[in-house]
Amino acid sequence: MNLKEKAFKWLDSSTDGIVELESLLSSIPAIAPESGGHGEMKKAETLVGWLGSKGIHQIERYDAPDPRVPGGKRPNVIATIPGLDGSEEGPRLWIMSHLDVVPEGDRTMWKTDPFKVLFQDGRVYGRGVEDNQQGLVGSIFAVLSILGSGGAPALTVKLLFVADEEVGSAFGIQHLLKTQKLFRRDDIIIVPDGGNAQGTEIEVAEKNLCWLKVLTKGKQCHGSTPDEGANAFLAACDLALRVHELEKTVFTARDPLFQPDRTTLSPTRKEANVPNINTIPGDDVFCFDMRILPCYPIDQVLGEVSKVMRQVEAEHRVTMSYEVVQRNESKATPREAPVVKLLAKAVKEVYGVDAKPVGIGGGTVGAYLRNEGLDCVVWARLEETAHQPNENAKIENIIGDAKVFASLMLGQ
Ligand SMILES: [Zn+2]
Repeated sequence: MNLKEKAFKWLDSSTDGIVELESLLSSIPAIAPESGGHGEMKKAETLVGWLGSKGIHQIERYDAPDPRVPGGKRPNVIATIPGLDGSEEGPRLWIMSHLDVVPEGDRTMWKTDPFKVLFQDGRVYGRGVEDNQQGLVGSIFAVLSILGSGGAPALTVKLLFVADEEVGSAFGIQHLLKTQKLFRRDDIIIVPDGGNAQGTEIEVAEKNLCWLKVLTKGKQCHGSTPDEGANAFLAACDLALRVHELEKTVFTARDPLFQPDRTTLSPTRKEANVPNINTIPGDDVFCFDMRILPCYPIDQVLGEVSKVMRQVEAEHRVTMSYEVVQRNESKATPREAPVVKLLAKAVKEVYGVDAKPVGIGGGTVGAYLRNEGLDCVVWARLEETAHQPNENAKIENIIGDAKVFASLMLGQ
């Protein structure tokens, strides 16, 4: 049996260990202060202790100061597992997962205690077991399978456990990218925090994302005399339709990497205006969620929105303005990048499926890395139960993903 076969065999009998680590991690709710929690420190320290008990001692910490949590710090942890020749020259393999979880939500929707993992019918149930502990635990067990088989990775492995993924990453990967020079251009970076049930989607790109809040000021008046006022809601409706129409008239490009393959400009949240039916509203606020193909810069879209606004203002005798609530422009990882090819090969070997590069609507931490010129991919084989009640993960997916990571670590 070669080392890879031994490691795979080791993983096939690792269910108990996986359930143990999943249970330990879910028992410590690592919830962001924005969501009423105390952050990730206790979970991070428990994890570092657990890794030590398994012989993984090369740990670095890059904590981000955050006075809102007890202890004042948000943890970012790197566990390094040296490669065969012990040098860090050449590409390193990074697997980045996040420590934080979202709150459990409505407890009555849970069949079990979200913070006490249940193992049943080949699945673990609990908050965080999939998002992102499937990836976190899988990456650790990949390492343990190699060490436990008496071997070492072919290249240096860096397991990165970050804080604050669920609420914007300012104290997690963004903090690391701003304050440290951890990554190199030739590093292989995998973020196991997204994917489909077959494991066939290797996410390499995101649409540009822009959230807009549109404020309209008209003139309030009695419902029986609408001509005396200027209906802010009506003007906003007109704007919503006209901007949405730009999908068909201006931003018409298609890119098969994405699903849907076009730019989408969707009116979404609507704030309350007048409390009663018989008043023409003088104020209106609503929002757009815009997912823009990378061939269109966000500024170009905002320019077109402004043009439409000026038309609507003139026709409805209102004034309109917008606030950009969120904007992210993200570079893509090239479809031919080594990380894409190596990962597709390992997925084929373990799962027997052809994984293909895809683009998504936006919103993963991959964008921060790509914008620094780092070729990262987001991949996992998962059931997509994240953030839901009764979140669960299949043990066979955790073991399978761990085999994919182990195959990459062994480098053949
Ligand atoms: Zn996640």
